[in-house]
Amino acid sequence: MALSKTEPDADASIHSTFGSRYVRASLPRFQIPENTIPKEAAYQIISDELMLDGNPRLNLASFVTTWMEPECNKLIMDAINKNYVDMDEYPVTTELQNRCVNMIARLFNAPLGDSEVAVGVGTVGSSEAIMLAGLAFKRKWQNRRKAEGKPYDKPNIVTGANVQVCWEKFARYFEVELKEVKLRDDYYVMDPHKAVEMVDENTICVAAILGSTLNGEFEDVNLLNKLLTEKNKQTGWDTPIHVDAASGGFIAPFLYKDLVWDFRLPLVKSINVSGHKYGLVYAGIGWVIWRSHEDLPDELIFHINYLGADQPTFTLNFSKGSSQIIAQYYQLIRLGIEGYTSIMENCRDNAKILKEGLLKTGRFKIVSKDIGVPLVAFSLKDNSYHTEFEISDMLRRFGWIVPAYTMAPDAQHVTVLRVVIREDFSRTLAERLVIDIEKVLHELDTMPARVNAKLANAALVGKADEHGVVVAGKKPDLDNDGEVKTAPQKKTTGVC
Ligand SMILES: *Cc1c(COP(=O)(O)O)cnc(C)c1O
Repeated sequence: MALSKTEPDADASIHSTFGSRYVRASLPRFQIPENTIPKEAAYQIISDELMLDGNPRLNLASFVTTWMEPECNKLIMDAINKNYVDMDEYPVTTELQNRCVNMIARLFNAPLGDSEVAVGVGTVGSSEAIMLAGLAFKRKWQNRRKAEGKPYDKPNIVTGANVQVCWEKFARYFEVELKEVKLRDDYYVMDPHKAVEMVDENTICVAAILGSTLNGEFEDVNLLNKLLTEKNKQTGWDTPIHVDAASGGFIAPFLYKDLVWDFRLPLVKSINVSGHKYGLVYAGIGWVIWRSHEDLPDELIFHINYLGADQPTFTLNFSKGSSQIIAQYYQLIRLGIEGYTSIMENCRDNAKILKEGLLKTGRFKIVSKDIGVPLVAFSLKDNSYHTEFEISDMLRRFGWIVPAYTMAPDAQHVTVLRVVIREDFSRTLAERLVIDIEKVLHELDTMPARVNAKLANAALVGKADEHGVVVAGKKPDLDNDGEVKTAPQKKTTGVC
């Protein structure tokens, strides 16, 4: 008689998923488990836990793309196992990145002849792009100072106090002083006059932002270029401009063609843009473009040959995925100028609908601009009874994630709520959000002001005072990326 012997749990698939021992026992949290589990169980356990994350499409805090076409999703999955750095093995992927660099450089009006090749590189995002651009400025400045026999140990960058946290990271990691032009009431971007006043012989560049993270407003790069040209003439210095166009770089060329902010201005030597914001690609891609070879010191470029032919590289990390580069190329050729223009127009129109809906309530003041990144930043006209933080908190119940934060110094007494309008935020959702905000206002009106509102508010604002964005309902010492805010002077904008 042949007896078949089965191990009690040898075939997990005979058990109901939720009756199997794999979901009945909890996994160790901070230790690699001793034993293997079936792939189905691993999948189920992880996807179940992830249900508790917010819905990315309703995350109105973020500029970063949350929807792409299924055809592009397929290209992304097809390339998921390609390491970008193996350029000799994947020459087509390298070629696609070079095409993207050239397309974006021309979009930004880099002074290139028809057959000339642009200087730029794909990065993980604008943060890496800004580190690279900053390093190029620092090295160029040092080289010039050395040649002149002058000290080169105290470099600084002039920016507005509204800069994104990555500038502060650059400053601290690469030992450059950040000289910030303070904001003031009703003026939430860098004042070019004050910026140019702050420039001295140690200034490696002035960084202007095309699309302030706080209210989406474009800084006046044209005026900055004019004032700085005059100052350079008077002083004999050669202070350049970098434009942080993380969000605006894919907006201005389509919506505001006449706005002069890019390489048309002679002092603009480099520009960064986040492919994963209005470049319409999922998180993990940014670009930095230099005006010309002269603006990128050669000694920063490494030449590697152990993967095949000689490959120049200028990035902070080595290995990374190829999918995002392929996806950027897909968007550029799929959409073309026509497609980007209509998407950006639609975002702008949806921002307008939302803005009008908010104004109609009679309760809000709008602090974003009509010309700028399509977002709506707004404050309560009267927040003495209930605060923007409470509104943010209560909107979560409807599934909306709308951050509330305080402005950077010297406008830190202003609290705003911000809704970023992305491609996938439709008219219906915009109207729906207004309805839900009205419901929240109505509910707040019937609630007594928090007894300890002052205290609660002080605690929140206290944390946010150091320009940390506080997303209500989260621990204030965590920003949106879960990054611990240990540094007291950390910038705003976990939200992007
Ligand atoms: C988002 C943003 C950054 C950082 O970009 P990442 O692509 O997220 O690294 C820098 N500057 C500005 C103005 C931004 O909006």
